[in-house]
Parts: sequence; C-alpha cells; structure tokens
Amino acid sequence: MAEVDLTGVGKVYPDGTRAVTDLNLAIADGEFLVLVGPSGCGKTTALRMVAGLEEISEGEVVIDGRVVNRIPSRDRDVAMVFQSYALYPHLSVRDNIGFGLSLRKLPKAEIRTKVEEAAEILGLTDHLDRKPRNLSGGQRQRVAMGRAIVRSPKAFLMDEPLSNLDAKLRVQMRAEIARIQRDLGVTTIYVTHDQTEAMTLGDRVAVMKKGELQQVAPPQELYDRPANLFVAGFIGSPAMNLLHGTLTGDADTPRIDVGGQSLTIPSEVLDQRSELRSYLGRDVVIGIRPEDMEDVELVDGPQNARLTATAELVEAMGSDVLVHFAVEAAQVVTEDTKELARDAGTDVLGKLEAPRTDMVARFSPRTRV
Ligand code: ATP
Repeated sequence: MAEVDLTGVGKVYPDGTRAVTDLNLAIADGEFLVLVGPSGCGKTTALRMVAGLEEISEGEVVIDGRVVNRIPSRDRDVAMVFQSYALYPHLSVRDNIGFGLSLRKLPKAEIRTKVEEAAEILGLTDHLDRKPRNLSGGQRQRVAMGRAIVRSPKAFLMDEPLSNLDAKLRVQMRAEIARIQRDLGVTTIYVTHDQTEAMTLGDRVAVMKKGELQQVAPPQELYDRPANLFVAGFIGSPAMNLLHGTLTGDADTPRIDVGGQSLTIPSEVLDQRSELRSYLGRDVVIGIRPEDMEDVELVDGPQNARLTATAELVEAMGSDVLVHFAVEAAQVVTEDTKELARDAGTDVLGKLEAPRTDMVARFSPRTRV
C-alpha cells in the first residue's frame, strides 16, 4: 500500500502528440481514485506513465515516497489490470493467477497459498483447474484481478477493466471491484470513460479533457459543484441542462433572461452566491439538473423561477420518465420518478397534446450560474 503522487506530469509522444499536460494528483494510501474523461483525453497515457509502460516526458511520479521516473515497470511494485484480460489460454486458472509469482521463483507452497487465498476472495475456488476458454467473461475478469491481488502490490492500476463485459455483468463486477478494493485497502487508480462507473467507484474522481485535469473531487461534490462547464455537462445522466442567458435587473433583484423569459433568483441563492451580482449585464450559462425542473402544478411553495416550455419528447425509461422541453431555442430535460409520472400521468401526456406548459426551475444549491 502506498501514496501515489503525480507532480507536473506531462507526456509528449515521439510523433509530437501531446497527450497529458501538467497533471497534478495526490492519491492517498488506500484511496480509490477514478480518472475519467472522453476518448483521447489522455487518461490511459497517465495511467501507463504511473505503471512504467510509458516514459514520463515531464514532471515526477512518486510511489510510496520513491521517484519512479527511471524505475522499470517490474520494479515499481504496481499491478495493472487491462481491459483485455491478457490471460494465457494454455494455462489453468491456478497457473494464470500464480504466473507472476512463479516467474519470481517463489516457493511452490507459498504460491499455492496465495493463489488459493485470492481465489477465495474472488469466488474462483471451484474453477482453479479450468482453462480460460471454459470461463465466462466475468470469471476471466476475476482471474485477471487475481493475478493483481496475489502480488500484494503497492497499487492497483486498472484500465477500463469492465468494458468487455455486458451491461448486467458490468454492474455486478463493479460492485465486486469496490468490495475487493475496500477489503484489501490497496491504493487504486482506475481509468474509465463511463461517468456512472466513475461516480459509483471513486472515493474521488479526476475529470480530464484534452490532456488537462479539470477537477478532482468526491463524486457528490463533482455533481453538486462542477468547477466548469465541461464537468457540469460531462457528469450526470441525463446531462445537466445548460441554458444561455443574460444576468439583468439590479443588485437587489438580479434576474436571468433566458429564451425570452425572465427568472428571478431566489434570495437564499443570492445569499450563498453573492458573487453572482458581479455578473450583472453579462452573458451567463445557467445549469439546472434535470431533477430540479418540475411541473409547476407539482411544486409547493414559491414559484419565482417559472419557465414556460414546450414538451417535445417523452422517454419512458422504466424507473424514470424523461421529458424533453424546448425553451425558445434551448432544450431542457426533466426527470420524474415513475410514481410522480403516474400521478401526473394525465398531466404529462395531456400536455404533450397541448404541449405548452409551465415549469419551475428549482434553484437548489447545486444550480450553477
Ligand atoms: P481512450 O478512452 O480512447 O482510450 P484515453 O483518454 O485513454 O482514450 P490516450 O489513449 O491516453 O487517451 O490518448 C491520448 C492522446 O494521445 C490521444 O490523442 C491519442 O491519439 C494519443 N496517443 C496515444 N498513444 C499514442 C502513441 N503511441 N503515439 C502518438 N500518440 C498517441
């Protein structure tokens, strides 16, 4: 177990492609840190630099107090789990899990004990004598994890380990990885492009875009207080509604003009975000989470942020119903629980036939301007 520190880390590939710029991350001992971002943002490159599979162009990587820039991968004492499980097809599960230990010429009895302990943790005890071809995708993934576990590394480095599994298995294995990591308490860096995976697994989540770190924070903080528009739009499904408008009115009662309408900002929001006043007269983007947009009929209390919108599309997702509205040229999405939709069913559907409806944008603490 160990702390992993990246200071000013950058990567320029030999062909001149810059993949990572000035990455600073301090991952605590035992922490589960998820690196997330769209395809090509540099997350795999960052992980491979920690693993020693890619040369570090700039900055320093420190594992357990030791600068590892010039230390080869095999001596860094980290275990990598890849998206392709990289199992040896001709070896049994037992030999696949113990392979790294055999290479290091550990005594046979010790290897046996370690492999059996890992198999127990992973629920593979009954499959130790099988070949990988006779295993399911989820079981193969567990064998790959087993290989990492038996090495008792200072850190687990995982690169999209679940992306070859079907959706149901992915959710199952996600829970399993979380449990194993918690039980073993091994510092883990986990790369994914899937924000749900990031939010459910990470103690903290680091969001990257075009090689640069955008924000690193616990999942709920990313959701409630995204540092910029990119994070606001990337984290959350369905995505946060981002409406372009102008801050008008005066310092006591600033308003947001959006889509030809004017929203009052409640005083309690102003009390929390007094800096909003400094945006008076400027173009702003207002971010409202779908679950904070509600049908006006269903809202108790003051309705000062009322928007008139036109329902354009209803998507029934089983547990949720998503309703897409247009506010003049802008699109907004609301999210109802099934129950609410059932209670309001005639309303929601009725309003589709006569689609103009009044909405309330609830200014919660996580509404961003
Ligand atoms: P993905 O989710 O698609 O794997 P990623 O966020 O992991 O993407 P990287 O694989 O780290 O991104 O790639 C970051 C950038 O570096 C991309 O623009 C990619 O094309 C580039 N890149 C990756 N490997 C090399 C290489 N060997 N030589 C040159 N450029 C590379």
